[in-house]
Amino acid sequence: MSKSTISRKDFLRKSGLGLMGALFVPSLLGSNSIFAEELNNPKQTAMKGNCILKNVLLETGFEYDADEVIRTKTGLFCVEIQDGMIKSVTANHPNRADAIDAKGLLMLPAFKDMHIHLDKTFYGGEWQAVRNRTGGIKGMIELEQRILPDMLKTSTEHAEKLIELLQSKGTSYARNHVNIEPTSKLQSLKNLQKALENKKKGFGAEIVAFPQHGVFYTDSASYLKEAAKMDIDFIGGVDPYTIDGAIEKTMDFTVQLALDHNKGIDLHLHESGASGLKTVEYLIKKVNENPALKNKTFISHAFVLGRLEEVQQEEVAAKLGDAGIGIVSTIPFGRLIMPIPTLYKHNVTVMTGNDSIIDHWNTWGSGSILQKTNVMAQLYGYGTEFKLSRCLKLATGDILPLDDKGNQQWPKAGDAANVVLIEASCSAEAISRISPVKSLIHQGNIVY
Ligand SMILES: [Zn+2]
Repeated sequence: MSKSTISRKDFLRKSGLGLMGALFVPSLLGSNSIFAEELNNPKQTAMKGNCILKNVLLETGFEYDADEVIRTKTGLFCVEIQDGMIKSVTANHPNRADAIDAKGLLMLPAFKDMHIHLDKTFYGGEWQAVRNRTGGIKGMIELEQRILPDMLKTSTEHAEKLIELLQSKGTSYARNHVNIEPTSKLQSLKNLQKALENKKKGFGAEIVAFPQHGVFYTDSASYLKEAAKMDIDFIGGVDPYTIDGAIEKTMDFTVQLALDHNKGIDLHLHESGASGLKTVEYLIKKVNENPALKNKTFISHAFVLGRLEEVQQEEVAAKLGDAGIGIVSTIPFGRLIMPIPTLYKHNVTVMTGNDSIIDHWNTWGSGSILQKTNVMAQLYGYGTEFKLSRCLKLATGDILPLDDKGNQQWPKAGDAANVVLIEASCSAEAISRISPVKSLIHQGNIVY
Protein backbone atom coordinates (compact mmCIF):
# COMPACT_ATOMS: atom_id res chain seq x y z
CA MET A 1 0.00 0.00 0.00
CA SER A 2 1.36 3.31 -0.97
CA LYS A 3 0.09 5.48 1.85
CA SER A 4 -0.13 8.57 -0.28
CA THR A 5 -2.04 7.07 -3.15
CA ILE A 6 -4.73 4.78 -1.78
CA SER A 7 -7.47 6.01 0.49
CA ARG A 8 -8.25 4.44 3.85
CA LYS A 9 -11.57 3.29 2.45
CA ASP A 10 -9.77 1.45 -0.32
CA PHE A 11 -7.34 0.04 2.20
CA LEU A 12 -10.12 -1.38 4.36
CA ARG A 13 -11.89 -2.75 1.33
CA LYS A 14 -8.75 -4.46 0.04
CA SER A 15 -7.80 -5.84 3.38
CA GLY A 16 -11.22 -7.37 3.79
CA LEU A 17 -11.96 -5.43 6.94
CA GLY A 18 -15.32 -4.42 5.56
CA LEU A 19 -16.56 -7.95 5.98
CA MET A 20 -16.77 -8.18 9.73
CA GLY A 21 -19.34 -10.91 9.69
CA ALA A 22 -17.11 -13.84 8.81
CA LEU A 23 -15.22 -15.77 11.43
CA PHE A 24 -11.48 -15.68 11.15
CA VAL A 25 -10.33 -19.12 10.20
CA PRO A 26 -6.72 -19.63 11.20
CA SER A 27 -4.52 -21.14 8.52
CA LEU A 28 -2.20 -24.07 9.05
CA LEU A 29 0.47 -21.49 9.71
CA GLY A 30 -0.99 -20.92 13.14
CA SER A 31 0.33 -24.17 14.53
CA ASN A 32 3.84 -22.72 14.91
CA SER A 33 2.71 -19.36 16.23
CA ILE A 34 3.45 -18.22 19.76
CA PHE A 35 -0.28 -17.56 19.77
CA ALA A 36 -1.25 -21.10 18.75
CA GLU A 37 -3.55 -21.29 21.76
CA GLU A 38 -5.34 -18.05 20.88
CA LEU A 39 -5.67 -19.16 17.26
CA ASN A 40 -7.40 -22.31 18.40
CA ASN A 41 -9.63 -20.57 20.90
CA PRO A 42 -13.00 -19.98 19.21
CA LYS A 43 -13.75 -17.03 21.48
CA GLN A 44 -10.53 -15.34 20.45
CA THR A 45 -10.86 -16.10 16.77
CA ALA A 46 -14.40 -14.75 16.77
CA MET A 47 -13.15 -11.36 17.94
CA LYS A 48 -12.28 -10.28 14.40
CA GLY A 49 -9.69 -7.62 14.61
CA ASN A 50 -9.92 -6.89 18.33
CA CYS A 51 -7.29 -7.93 20.85
CA ILE A 52 -5.24 -6.68 23.75
CA LEU A 53 -1.56 -7.56 23.95
CA LYS A 54 0.60 -7.24 27.04
CA ASN A 55 4.38 -7.46 27.46
CA VAL A 56 4.87 -5.90 24.03
CA LEU A 57 8.39 -4.55 23.53
CA LEU A 58 8.38 -1.16 21.77
CA GLU A 59 11.20 1.18 20.82
CA THR A 60 11.05 4.38 22.86
CA GLY A 61 14.16 6.38 21.97
CA PHE A 62 17.88 6.47 21.23
CA GLU A 63 20.73 6.35 23.71
CA TYR A 64 23.67 8.59 22.73
CA ASP A 65 27.40 8.74 23.34
CA ALA A 66 28.11 12.38 22.51
CA ASP A 67 26.31 12.76 19.12
CA GLU A 68 26.31 9.10 18.24
CA VAL A 69 23.38 6.77 18.68
CA ILE A 70 24.81 3.72 20.42
CA ARG A 71 21.66 1.89 21.51
CA THR A 72 17.90 1.86 21.06
CA LYS A 73 15.82 2.26 24.20
CA THR A 74 12.79 0.05 24.61
CA GLY A 75 10.04 -0.67 27.12
CA LEU A 76 7.17 -3.07 27.68
CA PHE A 77 3.62 -1.90 26.96
CA CYS A 78 0.02 -2.95 26.55
CA VAL A 79 -1.30 -2.49 23.03
CA GLU A 80 -5.04 -2.52 22.46
CA ILE A 81 -6.37 -3.23 18.99
CA GLN A 82 -9.95 -2.56 17.98
CA ASP A 83 -11.61 -3.01 14.60
CA GLY A 84 -8.25 -3.65 13.01
CA MET A 85 -6.72 -0.40 14.25
CA ILE A 86 -4.40 0.41 17.15
CA LYS A 87 -6.73 1.81 19.82
CA SER A 88 -4.20 2.62 22.52
CA VAL A 89 -0.65 2.06 23.72
CA THR A 90 -0.53 2.15 27.53
CA ALA A 91 1.63 1.18 30.48
CA ASN A 92 2.28 -2.53 30.74
CA HIS A 93 0.09 -4.64 33.03
CA PRO A 94 1.80 -8.03 33.12
CA ASN A 95 -0.99 -9.53 35.21
CA ARG A 96 -3.84 -8.35 33.03
CA ALA A 97 -5.96 -11.45 32.51
CA ASP A 98 -7.85 -10.32 29.40
CA ALA A 99 -4.64 -9.67 27.44
CA ILE A 100 -2.63 -11.99 25.23
CA ASP A 101 0.98 -12.33 26.36
CA ALA A 102 3.43 -11.09 23.70
CA LYS A 103 6.22 -12.46 25.92
CA GLY A 104 8.53 -9.47 25.51
CA LEU A 105 8.78 -9.81 21.74
CA LEU A 106 9.53 -6.67 19.74
CA MET A 107 6.57 -5.22 17.84
CA LEU A 108 7.37 -3.71 14.45
CA PRO A 109 5.17 -2.63 11.54
CA ALA A 110 4.26 -5.63 9.35
CA PHE A 111 6.38 -5.99 6.23
CA LYS A 112 5.33 -5.24 2.67
CA ASP A 113 6.49 -7.08 -0.41
CA MET A 114 6.07 -4.49 -3.13
CA HIS A 115 7.11 -6.56 -6.13
CA ILE A 116 6.07 -10.16 -6.49
CA HIS A 117 4.37 -12.45 -9.01
CA LEU A 118 1.99 -14.46 -6.85
CA ASP A 119 0.05 -15.60 -9.90
CA LYS A 120 2.98 -17.30 -11.59
CA THR A 121 4.93 -19.51 -9.22
CA PHE A 122 6.02 -23.11 -8.76
CA TYR A 123 5.91 -22.60 -4.98
CA GLY A 124 3.86 -25.31 -3.30
CA GLY A 125 4.83 -27.75 -6.04
CA GLU A 126 8.06 -29.60 -6.71
CA TRP A 127 11.52 -28.06 -6.60
CA GLN A 128 12.52 -26.92 -10.05
CA ALA A 129 15.66 -24.95 -10.93
CA VAL A 130 15.64 -22.67 -13.96
CA ARG A 131 16.64 -23.97 -17.38
CA ASN A 132 19.31 -22.41 -19.57
CA ARG A 133 17.78 -19.39 -21.24
CA THR A 134 17.68 -19.11 -24.99
CA GLY A 135 16.48 -16.22 -27.09
CA GLY A 136 16.58 -13.54 -24.39
CA ILE A 137 13.33 -12.01 -23.18
CA LYS A 138 11.50 -13.12 -26.33
CA GLY A 139 12.64 -16.68 -25.66
CA MET A 140 11.15 -16.36 -22.17
CA ILE A 141 7.87 -15.12 -23.63
CA GLU A 142 7.80 -18.17 -25.89
CA LEU A 143 8.50 -20.39 -22.86
CA GLU A 144 5.63 -18.78 -20.94
CA GLN A 145 3.28 -19.29 -23.86
CA ARG A 146 4.07 -23.00 -23.60
CA ILE A 147 3.92 -23.47 -19.81
CA LEU A 148 1.28 -21.00 -18.63
CA PRO A 149 -1.79 -23.02 -19.66
CA ASP A 150 -0.66 -25.79 -17.31
CA MET A 151 0.45 -23.43 -14.54
CA LEU A 152 -2.96 -21.75 -14.57
CA LYS A 153 -4.59 -25.01 -13.50
CA THR A 154 -3.01 -24.72 -10.04
CA SER A 155 -2.23 -21.02 -9.80
CA THR A 156 -4.82 -20.21 -7.12
CA GLU A 157 -3.50 -22.98 -4.89
CA HIS A 158 0.14 -22.01 -5.45
CA ALA A 159 -0.60 -18.33 -4.78
CA GLU A 160 -2.22 -19.27 -1.45
CA LYS A 161 0.81 -21.32 -0.44
CA LEU A 162 3.09 -18.45 -1.36
CA ILE A 163 0.99 -16.01 0.65
CA GLU A 164 1.43 -18.34 3.64
CA LEU A 165 5.20 -18.29 3.14
CA LEU A 166 5.18 -14.47 3.07
CA GLN A 167 3.02 -14.34 6.19
CA SER A 168 5.43 -16.65 8.03
CA LYS A 169 8.18 -14.11 7.24
CA GLY A 170 6.14 -11.21 8.62
CA THR A 171 4.66 -9.85 5.37
CA SER A 172 0.95 -9.05 5.28
CA TYR A 173 0.80 -6.86 2.20
CA ALA A 174 2.00 -7.26 -1.37
CA ARG A 175 1.97 -5.58 -4.74
CA ASN A 176 1.32 -8.31 -7.28
CA HIS A 177 2.23 -8.04 -10.93
CA VAL A 178 -0.34 -10.25 -12.65
CA ASN A 179 0.16 -11.55 -16.17
CA ILE A 180 -2.24 -10.08 -18.69
CA GLU A 181 -1.50 -11.42 -22.18
CA PRO A 182 -3.22 -13.42 -24.93
CA THR A 183 -2.19 -16.79 -23.43
CA SER A 184 -3.59 -16.23 -19.92
CA LYS A 185 -6.08 -13.58 -21.03
CA LEU A 186 -7.69 -12.52 -17.73
CA GLN A 187 -7.47 -15.99 -16.13
CA SER A 188 -4.29 -15.39 -14.15
CA LEU A 189 -5.92 -12.29 -12.64
CA LYS A 190 -9.13 -14.14 -11.81
CA ASN A 191 -7.23 -17.05 -10.24
CA LEU A 192 -5.17 -14.69 -8.11
CA GLN A 193 -8.24 -12.74 -7.05
CA LYS A 194 -9.68 -16.02 -5.78
CA ALA A 195 -6.54 -16.68 -3.70
CA LEU A 196 -6.57 -13.13 -2.31
CA GLU A 197 -10.24 -13.48 -1.42
CA ASN A 198 -9.51 -16.71 0.47
CA LYS A 199 -6.63 -15.08 2.34
CA LYS A 200 -8.04 -11.62 2.87
CA LYS A 201 -8.41 -11.83 6.63
CA GLY A 202 -4.67 -12.07 6.95
CA PHE A 203 -3.28 -10.48 3.82
CA GLY A 204 -3.83 -7.27 1.89
CA ALA A 205 -2.84 -6.69 -1.69
CA GLU A 206 -2.74 -4.39 -4.66
CA ILE A 207 -2.61 -5.54 -8.24
CA VAL A 208 -0.63 -4.45 -11.28
CA ALA A 209 -2.03 -5.51 -14.67
CA PHE A 210 1.23 -6.71 -16.19
CA PRO A 211 1.65 -7.23 -19.96
CA GLN A 212 4.56 -9.66 -19.56
CA HIS A 213 4.49 -10.44 -23.29
CA GLY A 214 4.57 -6.81 -24.42
CA VAL A 215 1.64 -4.52 -25.11
CA PHE A 216 1.96 -4.81 -28.88
CA TYR A 217 4.51 -7.63 -29.44
CA THR A 218 1.66 -9.95 -28.58
CA ASP A 219 -1.77 -8.43 -28.87
CA SER A 220 -2.24 -7.59 -25.19
CA ALA A 221 -3.74 -4.10 -25.47
CA SER A 222 -7.36 -5.24 -25.55
CA TYR A 223 -6.86 -7.48 -22.49
CA LEU A 224 -5.19 -4.64 -20.61
CA LYS A 225 -8.17 -2.42 -21.38
CA GLU A 226 -10.47 -5.10 -19.98
CA ALA A 227 -8.27 -5.54 -16.88
CA ALA A 228 -8.22 -1.78 -16.30
CA LYS A 229 -11.98 -1.92 -15.72
CA MET A 230 -11.52 -4.60 -13.06
CA ASP A 231 -10.37 -4.32 -9.45
CA ILE A 232 -6.74 -3.49 -10.13
CA ASP A 233 -4.54 -0.61 -8.96
CA PHE A 234 -1.74 -0.14 -11.45
CA ILE A 235 -1.07 -0.50 -15.16
CA GLY A 236 2.18 -2.38 -15.68
CA GLY A 237 4.63 -2.75 -18.50
CA VAL A 238 7.96 -4.28 -19.41
CA ASP A 239 10.96 -3.11 -21.44
CA PRO A 240 8.99 -1.28 -24.15
CA TYR A 241 11.95 -0.88 -26.50
CA THR A 242 13.21 -4.47 -26.31
CA ILE A 243 9.80 -6.11 -26.53
CA ASP A 244 7.55 -3.76 -28.47
CA GLY A 245 10.33 -2.00 -30.37
CA ALA A 246 8.93 1.39 -29.40
CA ILE A 247 9.23 3.50 -26.28
CA GLU A 248 6.76 6.32 -26.95
CA LYS A 249 3.98 4.24 -28.48
CA THR A 250 3.92 1.76 -25.57
CA MET A 251 4.40 4.34 -22.85
CA ASP A 252 1.70 6.59 -24.33
CA PHE A 253 -0.71 3.66 -24.25
CA THR A 254 0.22 2.82 -20.65
CA VAL A 255 -0.03 6.41 -19.43
CA GLN A 256 -3.36 6.99 -21.17
CA LEU A 257 -4.86 3.77 -19.80
CA ALA A 258 -3.75 4.70 -16.28
CA LEU A 259 -5.21 8.21 -16.63
CA ASP A 260 -8.48 6.99 -18.12
CA HIS A 261 -9.07 4.59 -15.25
CA ASN A 262 -7.46 6.56 -12.43
CA LYS A 263 -4.77 3.92 -11.84
CA GLY A 264 -1.10 4.16 -11.00
CA ILE A 265 1.77 2.84 -13.14
CA ASP A 266 4.43 0.29 -12.23
CA LEU A 267 6.77 -0.48 -15.12
CA HIS A 268 9.31 -3.34 -15.20
CA LEU A 269 12.43 -1.81 -16.75
CA HIS A 270 15.45 -4.10 -17.10
CA GLU A 271 16.95 -2.27 -20.09
CA SER A 272 20.26 -0.97 -18.83
CA GLY A 273 21.52 1.02 -21.83
CA ALA A 274 20.38 4.05 -23.83
CA SER A 275 16.83 2.74 -24.31
CA GLY A 276 16.47 2.27 -20.54
CA LEU A 277 17.51 5.85 -19.83
CA LYS A 278 15.26 7.15 -22.62
CA THR A 279 12.33 5.25 -21.12
CA VAL A 280 13.00 6.68 -17.64
CA GLU A 281 13.21 10.20 -19.06
CA TYR A 282 10.08 9.77 -21.15
CA LEU A 283 8.14 8.52 -18.14
CA ILE A 284 9.36 11.48 -16.05
CA LYS A 285 8.15 13.82 -18.82
CA LYS A 286 4.73 12.17 -19.02
CA VAL A 287 4.25 12.23 -15.24
CA ASN A 288 5.21 15.90 -15.11
CA GLU A 289 2.66 16.58 -17.87
CA ASN A 290 0.03 14.60 -15.95
CA PRO A 291 0.31 15.45 -12.24
CA ALA A 292 -2.45 12.93 -11.46
CA LEU A 293 0.25 10.28 -11.87
CA LYS A 294 2.62 11.82 -9.30
CA ASN A 295 3.28 9.62 -6.28
CA LYS A 296 1.54 6.72 -7.93
CA THR A 297 4.07 5.92 -10.64
CA PHE A 298 6.88 3.45 -10.05
CA ILE A 299 9.69 1.85 -12.01
CA SER A 300 10.55 -1.67 -10.96
CA HIS A 301 14.21 -2.71 -11.26
CA ALA A 302 15.33 0.40 -13.22
CA PHE A 303 18.69 -1.28 -13.79
CA VAL A 304 19.86 1.58 -16.01
CA LEU A 305 20.26 3.80 -12.93
CA GLY A 306 23.02 1.48 -11.74
CA ARG A 307 24.88 1.92 -15.04
CA LEU A 308 25.02 5.73 -15.06
CA GLU A 309 27.95 7.87 -13.99
CA GLU A 310 27.57 9.33 -10.52
CA VAL A 311 26.76 12.84 -11.78
CA GLN A 312 24.02 11.49 -14.00
CA GLN A 313 22.67 9.30 -11.17
CA GLU A 314 22.27 12.46 -9.10
CA GLU A 315 20.51 14.27 -11.95
CA VAL A 316 18.08 11.48 -12.71
CA ALA A 317 17.41 10.80 -9.01
CA ALA A 318 16.57 14.48 -8.50
CA LYS A 319 14.17 14.40 -11.46
CA LEU A 320 12.52 11.19 -10.17
CA GLY A 321 12.14 12.76 -6.73
CA ASP A 322 10.57 15.92 -8.20
CA ALA A 323 8.19 13.90 -10.37
CA GLY A 324 7.11 11.69 -7.46
CA ILE A 325 8.22 8.51 -9.24
CA GLY A 326 9.28 5.69 -6.91
CA ILE A 327 11.74 2.86 -7.53
CA VAL A 328 11.02 -0.74 -6.61
CA SER A 329 14.26 -2.73 -6.41
CA THR A 330 15.06 -6.29 -5.48
CA ILE A 331 18.42 -4.91 -4.23
CA PRO A 332 20.66 -6.62 -6.80
CA PHE A 333 24.32 -7.20 -6.02
CA GLY A 334 27.29 -8.55 -7.93
CA ARG A 335 27.26 -7.33 -11.51
CA LEU A 336 24.92 -4.44 -10.75
CA ILE A 337 24.59 -2.17 -7.73
CA MET A 338 21.70 0.28 -7.64
CA PRO A 339 22.30 3.87 -6.42
CA ILE A 340 19.86 3.51 -3.54
CA PRO A 341 21.60 6.03 -1.21
CA THR A 342 21.38 8.61 -4.02
CA LEU A 343 17.69 7.86 -4.50
CA TYR A 344 17.07 8.32 -0.77
CA LYS A 345 19.04 11.58 -0.84
CA HIS A 346 16.64 12.96 -3.46
CA ASN A 347 13.54 11.77 -1.60
CA VAL A 348 12.69 9.07 -4.10
CA THR A 349 10.40 6.45 -2.58
CA VAL A 350 12.32 3.17 -2.55
CA MET A 351 10.54 -0.13 -2.01
CA THR A 352 11.56 -3.75 -2.34
CA GLY A 353 10.09 -7.15 -3.10
CA ASN A 354 11.05 -10.77 -3.63
CA ASP A 355 9.90 -10.76 -7.28
CA SER A 356 10.41 -14.50 -7.90
CA ILE A 357 10.36 -17.06 -5.11
CA ILE A 358 10.58 -20.12 -7.34
CA ASP A 359 9.58 -19.98 -10.97
CA HIS A 360 11.04 -20.21 -14.46
CA TRP A 361 12.77 -16.80 -14.04
CA ASN A 362 14.69 -17.56 -10.86
CA THR A 363 14.58 -19.34 -7.53
CA TRP A 364 16.38 -16.87 -5.25
CA GLY A 365 13.48 -15.33 -3.33
CA SER A 366 13.41 -16.40 0.32
CA GLY A 367 10.10 -14.65 0.94
CA SER A 368 11.73 -12.50 3.62
CA ILE A 369 11.65 -8.74 3.24
CA LEU A 370 13.81 -8.49 6.35
CA GLN A 371 16.49 -10.39 4.45
CA LYS A 372 16.26 -7.87 1.56
CA THR A 373 16.71 -5.10 4.11
CA ASN A 374 19.73 -6.90 5.55
CA VAL A 375 21.24 -7.10 2.06
CA MET A 376 20.68 -3.36 1.57
CA ALA A 377 22.35 -2.61 4.91
CA GLN A 378 25.37 -4.73 3.98
CA LEU A 379 25.68 -3.39 0.43
CA TYR A 380 25.60 0.27 1.35
CA GLY A 381 27.40 0.08 4.69
CA TYR A 382 24.42 0.97 6.88
CA GLY A 383 26.04 -0.70 9.89
CA THR A 384 25.63 1.64 12.86
CA GLU A 385 22.70 1.42 15.26
CA PHE A 386 21.20 4.57 13.74
CA LYS A 387 21.69 3.62 10.09
CA LEU A 388 20.44 0.07 10.64
CA SER A 389 17.34 1.40 12.38
CA ARG A 390 16.60 3.68 9.40
CA CYS A 391 16.82 0.73 6.98
CA LEU A 392 13.62 -0.69 8.41
CA LYS A 393 11.59 1.69 6.25
CA LEU A 394 12.48 -0.44 3.22
CA ALA A 395 10.61 -3.35 4.80
CA THR A 396 7.62 -1.49 6.20
CA GLY A 397 6.63 0.92 3.43
CA ASP A 398 8.37 3.87 5.09
CA ILE A 399 6.98 3.38 8.61
CA LEU A 400 9.60 3.67 11.37
CA PRO A 401 8.91 3.31 15.12
CA LEU A 402 11.31 6.20 15.91
CA ASP A 403 11.91 9.39 13.94
CA ASP A 404 15.48 10.54 13.20
CA LYS A 405 15.65 12.31 16.55
CA GLY A 406 14.52 9.21 18.43
CA ASN A 407 10.96 10.36 19.11
CA GLN A 408 8.45 7.53 19.20
CA GLN A 409 6.10 7.86 16.22
CA TRP A 410 4.70 4.33 15.85
CA PRO A 411 2.49 2.68 16.95
CA LYS A 412 -0.08 5.37 17.65
CA ALA A 413 -3.85 5.27 18.12
CA GLY A 414 -5.45 5.14 14.68
CA ASP A 415 -2.58 3.28 12.98
CA ALA A 416 -3.54 0.14 11.10
CA ALA A 417 -2.95 -2.89 13.35
CA ASN A 418 -0.58 -4.55 10.88
CA VAL A 419 2.30 -5.72 13.06
CA VAL A 420 4.92 -8.39 13.49
CA LEU A 421 6.27 -9.72 16.76
CA ILE A 422 9.88 -10.57 16.38
CA GLU A 423 12.59 -12.12 18.56
CA ALA A 424 14.89 -9.10 18.72
CA SER A 425 15.77 -6.31 21.13
CA CYS A 426 15.38 -3.50 18.54
CA SER A 427 14.92 -2.98 14.80
CA ALA A 428 18.69 -2.64 14.22
CA GLU A 429 19.20 -6.12 15.65
CA ALA A 430 16.21 -7.50 13.74
CA ILE A 431 17.73 -6.35 10.44
CA SER A 432 21.29 -7.34 11.21
CA ARG A 433 20.36 -10.80 12.51
CA ILE A 434 17.31 -11.34 10.23
CA SER A 435 15.62 -12.25 13.51
CA PRO A 436 12.85 -14.85 13.58
CA VAL A 437 9.29 -13.62 13.12
CA LYS A 438 7.14 -15.14 15.86
CA SER A 439 3.74 -13.68 15.01
CA LEU A 440 1.94 -11.61 12.38
CA ILE A 441 -1.18 -9.59 13.03
CA HIS A 442 -3.02 -8.17 10.02
CA GLN A 443 -5.80 -5.64 10.58
CA GLY A 444 -6.03 -6.86 14.13
CA ASN A 445 -6.38 -10.53 13.14
CA ILE A 446 -3.76 -12.86 14.52
CA VAL A 447 -2.58 -14.58 11.34
CA TYR A 448 0.48 -16.38 12.55
ZN1 LIG B 1 8.76 -8.75 -11.72
